[in-house]
Amino acid sequence: MNAQKRFEIFRRLREANPDPRSELVYATPFELLVAVVLSAQATDKSVNLATAKLFPVANTPRALLDLGQQRLEEYIKTIGLYRAKAKNVIALCADLLAKHDGQVPRDRESLEALPGVGRKTANVVLNVAFGEPTIAVDTHLFRLANRINLAPGKDVLKVEQQLLKFVPTEFLQHAHHWLILHGRYVCKAQKPDCPRCVIADLCEYRHKTPGESAPAQPRASMHPRPARKTEAIAPSHRRGRVARPT
Ligand code: SF4
Repeated sequence: MNAQKRFEIFRRLREANPDPRSELVYATPFELLVAVVLSAQATDKSVNLATAKLFPVANTPRALLDLGQQRLEEYIKTIGLYRAKAKNVIALCADLLAKHDGQVPRDRESLEALPGVGRKTANVVLNVAFGEPTIAVDTHLFRLANRINLAPGKDVLKVEQQLLKFVPTEFLQHAHHWLILHGRYVCKAQKPDCPRCVIADLCEYRHKTPGESAPAQPRASMHPRPARKTEAIAPSHRRGRVARPT
C-alpha cells in the first residue's frame, strides 16, 4: 500500500470520528491500568460492568490491597480468567506502592515490569493516559492491518513496528483507536461490512463483502462513545486518550 492511500485512510477515519475514545470506562490512569489488565481476552463491556461496581469501592492501589484478592475476585468473577487477573492486580498494586509511590509510571520499562502488564497494556496506558503516540495492536487491529495491506506482519510486534513506521505523524496519536474501532465494528472478522465502509475504495482486501457502494458521507455514529468521561485525569492526559488486543 502506498503512502497516499495510507494518508487518505487515516484522513477519512479521522473525519468520521475526530476524537476517538477508549471504550473502557475509567477516571484515572490507575483505573485505566486495572481496566486494561482485566480486559485481556474479555470484552470491554464485561470489564465496564465489573469496574462500575468495583471502582466506587476501591480505585487506588491501597484500597485494592485493603480489599484483598478474595473480595476482588467477587467483583470481577464475570470476567474470564478472573482469578489470575485478581492475583495480578493485587501484586500490581503492591508494586505500585513499593516502587512508584502508588502512581502509575509513565515509562514503558516500568509499566512492563508490573505483574500482568505486557507490551500491549503498556502501549494502551502510555497512549490513553499519558498521550504518548504508541500503538497497541489487538486482535482487531492485527486482522485489519494484514487484511487491507495497511501494515502487514506475521506477529503483533511486526505490525506495531510497521504502523509506527508508516502512519503519518499527524495521525499517530489516535491511529490505534481508529483502527481498533474500525476492525471491531466495520471490518469484522467473519463478515466485513464493506458496503458501509468509508475506506472501501482504498482497501486492498481481495474478498470484500459484496453490496452497495460505500456511503459518500462518513459515519461518525458507528463508533459508540464511552458512558463515563475521564474527568479526574489532568487535561494533558485526557487529550491522549485513545483503546487495546484481546
Ligand atoms: S472494504 Fe471491507 S475489507 Fe476493506 S477495510 Fe472496509 S470492511 Fe474491511
